[in-house]
Amino acid sequence: MSEPASQRPTRVVVDLGALSHNLAAIRERVRVPVMGIVKANAYGHGLVPVAQHLEAQGVDQLGVAFLEEGIALRRARVKVPILVLGGIFGPQVAEFIRHDLDITVSSLDKLRQVEAAAEALGRKAGVHLKIDTGMERIGVHSYSAGPFIEAAVASKWIAIKGVYSHLACADDPSSPMTALQVKRFAKACAHFDRLGAPMPPRHLANSGGVLHFPDTWLDMVRPGIVLYGVLPDPVSQRTIDVRPALSLVSQVVYFKVVRSGNTVSYGATWIAPRDTRIVTVPIGYGDGWPRALSSKGEVLIRGNRMPIVGRICMDQFMVDLGADGTAYNEDEVVLVGAQGGEAISTEAVAQVADTIPYEILTGLNERIPRVYR
Ligand SMILES: *Cc1c(COP(=O)(O)O)cnc(C)c1O
Repeated sequence: MSEPASQRPTRVVVDLGALSHNLAAIRERVRVPVMGIVKANAYGHGLVPVAQHLEAQGVDQLGVAFLEEGIALRRARVKVPILVLGGIFGPQVAEFIRHDLDITVSSLDKLRQVEAAAEALGRKAGVHLKIDTGMERIGVHSYSAGPFIEAAVASKWIAIKGVYSHLACADDPSSPMTALQVKRFAKACAHFDRLGAPMPPRHLANSGGVLHFPDTWLDMVRPGIVLYGVLPDPVSQRTIDVRPALSLVSQVVYFKVVRSGNTVSYGATWIAPRDTRIVTVPIGYGDGWPRALSSKGEVLIRGNRMPIVGRICMDQFMVDLGADGTAYNEDEVVLVGAQGGEAISTEAVAQVADTIPYEILTGLNERIPRVYR
C-alpha cells in the first residue's frame, strides 16, 4: 500500500498477493524449507519490501548475491537467516559475521580466511560449503571435496549451516546434465557420513530444479525467478501454479499525427506507411526498457496491442495507433502486465528482445518507482 515519493507516471507495480501465492504454491509442491532468492533488487521487484513481505509470509531463509545486499536487509530489520551466494573477499569476512550473514565458502583458502576472521572476532562464522558439480563458477570441485569438507568439520570457528551446489541446465526439463550434477553432489555430501559428521542441510534446486527435478529438492530449495511468477526459459514447464507479481506501466505523454512518408525517432529507421496517429511514452533504455524492442515490441493501450515504432530512446519511445486509433494524454500504457483482456508477459518481452526474462526484470532500474499492492 506504500505510495512512491515520486509521482512519475512510469512505475513498477508489485502484487504482493501474487508473491504470497507463489511462495505457498512452491512450498506445497516441494515440502521442504524455502530460501527465497532476492538478489538484484529482488529481480527488480524491490529488495527490502519483497524480503520483508516474504519474511512475514514465513519464508525460511533468504539468499542475496553479495555482502551489501545482505547488510541492506539487516539494516531493514530482516531477521531470517540470509545466505550471501557469491564469492567472498577476505577483508569482508568480519562484516559478514558482524551482520550475522551466512557466508558461501567456496575454497580451502577462503575457509582459512573465514576461520581467521572468526577467531579474531571471537565469534563463529555461519557458512554454507559450496561444491561445484558442473557449473564451473565458484565452489570446490565435487571430486576434490573430501579435504575441504574435512577441514570445515574440524574447525571450531566454523558453524556449517549448509552444503550446496548450483545447477547449470535445470531450466530445460530434458537436459541430462541435472542428473549428473545430482549424482556428483551426493558423492560430495557422502564425505560427511564418512567423517561421522552430521549432515548439514543440502540444497541444490534453483527455479528450474523446483519446476522440473524433484530429486534436486533435498533439504531446501532456492527459487528465484519462479517465486516472482516468471518461468526461467521458453522450454520450462509451468508445473507449479505461479503468477507474475510485476507489472510495468506508464502513461501517454504526447499525441500527434505523423504524415505518410515521414520518419519516427533516431536514425529515421521507421517510415509512416500512411498518415498515422503516434503517441509517445515516457520510458526508455535509460530505465532498463530494452532498446532491442525498437520497432519490434508491443504495448497495451485501451486494451489493444499496439506496436512500438522507431528506435527506443533513453527516456521515451513511440507507439503507432494506426490511422484511426485513439488515445489521450495520460491514458495508461502497459508494457508488462494485463489490460482489458490482453496481457504481455516478461517472458514474451524477453523473447522479442532476444534475451532471458531475468535480464528484463533485473534491468528495470532505480529510476522507476515501485508501488506495492
Ligand atoms: C540466482 C541463484 C538462484 C536462483 O536462481 P533462479 O533461476 O532465479 O531460481 C539460486 N541459487 C544460486 C546460487 C543463485 O545464484
